[in-house]
Amino acid sequence: MNEHTPTPWRAVIYGNSEWEVWGGDLLVADVTTPEDPLQPEVAEANAAFIVRAVNSHTALLAALKSVEWAGLAKSCPSCGGYEHAGPRGAGAGHAPDCELAAALRAAEGE
Ligand SMILES: [Zn+2]
Repeated sequence: MNEHTPTPWRAVIYGNSEWEVWGGDLLVADVTTPEDPLQPEVAEANAAFIVRAVNSHTALLAALKSVEWAGLAKSCPSCGGYEHAGPRGAGAGHAPDCELAAALRAAEGE
């Protein structure tokens, strides 16, 4: 898999109703909405959400991993599963419906 454009990304207004998301000097995305009715505030909110999500991804993933196997018992604070209940790695020892494990899988693209 290729590496994504380095963060931080930023949202920049383009014209009267479109927004762009930039990473450094590279245009990453055009953010628009349907023109009928024109909703520039939705394009702005979507661009801002993309930027917040991308720019916080690394810190949020690190924070999740830091609490995944908490305490001396090395248990998941979400489902109560134990780290050593399964093979190491994301999902090891978690209950099938564990929200923390699901968030980790989603954040890591699994
Ligand atoms: Zn869990």
